[in-house]
Amino acid sequence: MSELPVADKFAAFEELIPPLTDLNTPYREALSRGELILQQCQTCTSHQYPFESFCYECGSTELENKISLGQGFVYSFVKVHQPYHSAFKPFIPYTVATIQLDDGPRLLSAMLELTTEVKIDDRVKPRIERITASESMLMYELERS
Ligand SMILES: [Zn+2]
Repeated sequence: MSELPVADKFAAFEELIPPLTDLNTPYREALSRGELILQQCQTCTSHQYPFESFCYECGSTELENKISLGQGFVYSFVKVHQPYHSAFKPFIPYTVATIQLDDGPRLLSAMLELTTEVKIDDRVKPRIERITASESMLMYELERS
């Protein structure tokens, strides 16, 4: 994928980036390339997120990283009106949603700068924004926007 430009409006998110670990480094490197990856169990084929050293479903340690389209739907959401961290202040109000991925896992994601209201079951797609020279952040946006 092409190099993502750094957007100043997301620079304040840098201090929210967790430390790199052996488990999250492949995920973070993929995001930096503009790709979302999930772990896929080579024993039972289930996908999982967040990354772990074993399969949540069967306990196997035979896991591989697979590129995901990241599409899914809104399983649940809240609309946030308070800036719990200064990085979010320019985006108030914003949505935090539980996304049910078509690949199986659910993940929690911010949905910033939406132009229409979110509803349960709305189809969503990933929005990957670069926040530093080497780090990007996964957010979600509505497919219909
Ligand atoms: Zn498994």
